[in-house]
Amino acid sequence: MLNKRGKSVLRCACCGGEMVLKSELRVAAVYKCMGCGLSDTKLKLE
Ligand SMILES: [Zn+2]
Repeated sequence: MLNKRGKSVLRCACCGGEMVLKSELRVAAVYKCMGCGLSDTKLKLE
């Protein structure tokens, strides 16, 4: 899924809203849904 800026967008598994980057760690990034508040952690693949 791509947004208008051509950047990949995570969609919330709960409500389908856009997940925004909340905090970035050394090995993972934490995203939070603006709709329902669900947070998700994605491990960085380097
Ligand atoms: Zn949601």
